[in-house]
Amino acid sequence: MNTAIDKLSKVLQLEAARGYDNRAVFGGLERMMESWEPEVLASGISAELPQLVISRLKDYPQLSPAGRAELLNGVWMQLADEYPELRDRIPGAGAAPEAAEPEPEEIEAEEPVQPEASVEDPGLVEPASLDTPLTSVAGIGPKSGKTLQKLGLETLEDLFWHLPRRYDDYSQLKTINRLWYGEEVTIIGTVEQVSVRTVRGGKLQLVEARIGDGTGSIGVTWFNQAWIASRLKPGEALVLSGRVEEYLGKLTMNGPEWEPLEAEQIHTNRIVPVYPLTAGITAKWLRRVINSVVTRLASRVPDPLPAPMVGEANLQPLGTDLRQVHFPDSWEQLERAQQRLAFDELLYLQLGVLRQKQGWAKLEAEPLQVGPDWLPNFLSNLPFQLTAAQDQALRQVIDDLSQPHPMNRLLQGDVGSGKTVIAAAAIGIAGFHSAQSALMTPTSILAEQHYATLRELLPAAAGIPAERIRLLLGSTPEPDKVRIRAELQSGEVLLLVGTHALLEDPVSFSKLGLAVIDEQHRFGVSQRAALRSKGAAPHLMVMTATPIPRSLALTLYGDLDLTLIDEFPPNRIPIETRVLRPIERARAHSFIRGQLELGRQAYIIYPLVEGSEHVQAKAAVDEHQKLQASVFPDYRLGLLHGRLKPEEKEQVMESFRSGELAALVSTSVIEVGIDVPNASTVLIEGANRFGLAQLHQFRGRVGRGPHASYCLLIPETESETENARLRAMEQTTDGFKLAELDLEQRGAGDLMGTRQTGFELRAARLTDIRLIEKARNQAASLFARDPQLESPEHQALAAAVDRFWSNGKGEIS
Ligand code: ADP
Ligand code: MG
Repeated sequence: MNTAIDKLSKVLQLEAARGYDNRAVFGGLERMMESWEPEVLASGISAELPQLVISRLKDYPQLSPAGRAELLNGVWMQLADEYPELRDRIPGAGAAPEAAEPEPEEIEAEEPVQPEASVEDPGLVEPASLDTPLTSVAGIGPKSGKTLQKLGLETLEDLFWHLPRRYDDYSQLKTINRLWYGEEVTIIGTVEQVSVRTVRGGKLQLVEARIGDGTGSIGVTWFNQAWIASRLKPGEALVLSGRVEEYLGKLTMNGPEWEPLEAEQIHTNRIVPVYPLTAGITAKWLRRVINSVVTRLASRVPDPLPAPMVGEANLQPLGTDLRQVHFPDSWEQLERAQQRLAFDELLYLQLGVLRQKQGWAKLEAEPLQVGPDWLPNFLSNLPFQLTAAQDQALRQVIDDLSQPHPMNRLLQGDVGSGKTVIAAAAIGIAGFHSAQSALMTPTSILAEQHYATLRELLPAAAGIPAERIRLLLGSTPEPDKVRIRAELQSGEVLLLVGTHALLEDPVSFSKLGLAVIDEQHRFGVSQRAALRSKGAAPHLMVMTATPIPRSLALTLYGDLDLTLIDEFPPNRIPIETRVLRPIERARAHSFIRGQLELGRQAYIIYPLVEGSEHVQAKAAVDEHQKLQASVFPDYRLGLLHGRLKPEEKEQVMESFRSGELAALVSTSVIEVGIDVPNASTVLIEGANRFGLAQLHQFRGRVGRGPHASYCLLIPETESETENARLRAMEQTTDGFKLAELDLEQRGAGDLMGTRQTGFELRAARLTDIRLIEKARNQAASLFARDPQLESPEHQALAAAVDRFWSNGKGEIS
C-alpha cells in the first residue's frame, strides 16, 4: 500500500482510540496535513483523494468529538473505496489498534502500563486522592512500585510533582525532503531496511536503518542497542524525533527517540518531558508510567483552591495544568501550567506563614519593660553613637519586648551595619528583668567573637557582670559544660553565647526570656524551633546580613516582623575593590606586603575547589605553605579551614585578632561575621566561583576599623577578568543590589539556601516577584476571611497547606 496512506490511516486509528481529541499527532490533524500533502503527492497517486481528505480535515479542530468521529468516518469510507485492505482498520469495524509491546530494554517488561484510551467523564469517576499509594494505581505493580520508590515516588502526589527537569522540542513535524542539518525534528516514515553489525573490533554494536516517507529516505543509527533491530520490521511505520546530523555528506539521525506510529506518541512528535532519573530506570519507562498516570488521573485530582480564587487568579482546572506540565501541548501551555503550580506552592507557603504568625501572636510572654532611664544609660555607655537606623530598630525592639506577647523580629542589615549592639540592648533589657538570654551563632569563631564583644559591652552599658556571661561550644570541656549547665539552672548565668551546642538536650534554662539567632539563614528550621523551645514563650530576635528583596522577605519570613538597618556607621571609608588579572597576582601580593608593613592585617580567601571538605582543606594547606615559604617568609600566616577542630579554629582566630598573625589564609569558612578592625585587605582567589552576595560578605571582613581598606578579586582565568558580574563588585557596595544581581544570575537557591529555610519549592522560583505578590495577596485576603481555613469549602486547601508544611518539615523559626 502507499506509505503516506498507510501513515494517515494509522494516525486516524490512533485519533479514534484517543476519543477524537485531535492530539493523535502533535499540533492536530489539520497541521499534519501540511507535511502529509507533499509526501502523498510525491508518492505518485492521483491528487484527487489527498485533496478530498485535506479539505475535509480543515474543519476538524472546530468540531465536537462526535462531529469529528462522523467526519473521520467519511474519510475512512473514501480511503477504503480506493484501498479495500484498509477496511478492517476502520475503528469499530475491524481490529483495534495494536498494543505496543513492552520493550526489551525496559525493566518491568511484564507489567506494561497501558493508558486507558477512552475519555473519561469526570462526573462519573471517583476523585483520585493524592496520597493514594502508587502501587494501587492500575498498571503499577509491586515491582514498578519498588522502582519508583528509588526516585522517592510513593504516592500519586509524588508522581505528579516529579516535574521534568527540561523538555525537548520534538514538535517540528517534517517530511524527509525538507530536513536541514542541525534541526531538531520529528519525521514519520516507514522502515525500509534494518541491519545490525559490530564495529570497532566487536566493541560496539551498530543498528542501521533506512527510513522513507515517500519524499525521500534517511539513514538512522543507534549504538549499542542491538535489540532495536529486532523490533523494527521493514514496512512498519515509525515516528522518530531527534537532531538531524550529517555523516559523509549525507543527512542522518543518530540515536533518535522513536516509537511505532500506532502507539500514542509520548517520546516523539511533541514537546517531550525529560525527567530526573536514577540508576536502573530508563527515561522511556518513566515517561510512559507518568504519562499513563497523568492521562488517567490528573483530571480526577480535586483542586484544593476554592473556586472563587481559581476565578480571581485566572487559573484553569488543576488537572489541565498537571497534564500540561508533564506533556505540554505547547510552550505557552507549559508556561501557564508551571505558573499555576508555582502559584499553589507560594500560596501554601504564605498561608502557613500567616497562620504561624497568628499562632505566635496568641502566645503570652513576660513583658519586659524598662523605665525611662534605661535607654539613655545604655546609650551613654556605648563607645559610639547609634546611627538613625540603629536607633529606630532599637526603639522597635524595646516596644516589642514590652508587649505581653513574644517578640518575633527579623533584623536585616548589611554586613557592618551594626546589628550586634541591638541584640546587646535586648539582652540587657532581659537581664534587667533577671530573664536569661541565649545567643546562637552558626560558627564557633563567631560565638567567640560575640562572647568577647558582649563581655566588654554589657557590664558597662547594661549592668550585666562579665562573669554572668558564658560561652558554650561543642568543644567546651565536659566539666565546664557541667558547670555552665548548673549555673543556667540556678539562674546565675544571664547570657549564654554559643553554637548549636546550645540546643543539646541537657542544656536547660531556669528562665529563658530572649532567644537571639545571628546569621539566621545558616540555621535549619528545626534548630530555630529547638532554641525557642528552651523557654516557655521567649522573645525572639533573628539577625541576618542576607539582603533579601522585601517582597521575598515578606514571603519567606512573613511570620516575623521586619526591621531593616539600611545605614552604615559614619566615617567608614568605602572599601576599594579591584578585579585583577591572574597574571597580576604578584602585584596583589606586594600590595598586601605594603599593608602589612603599615601594621595592617590581611585575609587571603582560597577558592572553592571541587570535591569534599577534605580536598578543600588540603588545597588550602598547600596554598598556605606556598605563600608562607615563598611570598611572605618574613610574616606569620595563619590557616583556617573546615577540617580544623573548633578549638584549633578559635586559636587561629585569636592569634589573628591579637595581631600575632599578619595574614590569614582561609577557605570560605571565614565568611560569617568576623570582626577584626585592623584587617584592611581581603584578597579573594578564584573569585569567579563565588556568588556576588558571598563575595560581598567576604569583603565585609575589612573596612571595619578606621583604616582605608581594599578588596582584591582574582578570577581563575583571563577571560573572567572582564566579566561584568565581577565588575559589579567594583561598582557597588550595596549588598541589596548585589543580591538582586545574584538572584537574576544564579537564582534564589544559592542566596538564601531555600533548603535551609526548610521549604522544598518544586515549581516556584523565588525570582518571580510578580507571582510571589499575587500569591501573597490571595493568601492575605483569604486569611482575612477564614484564618483557620475552617469553612467547608476550604477543607481541601487546609489539607494541602498542611501537606506542604509537613513536607517542608515544619515551622520557619
Ligand atoms: P553586623 O551588622 O555586621 O553584625 P556589627 O554589629 O559586627 O555589624 O558591627 C560592625 C562594627 O561596627 C563593629 O566593630 C561595631 O562595634 C561597629 N559599630 C556598630 N555600630 C556603630 C556605630 N553606630 N558607630 C560606629 N561604629 C559602630
Ligand atoms: Mg554580625
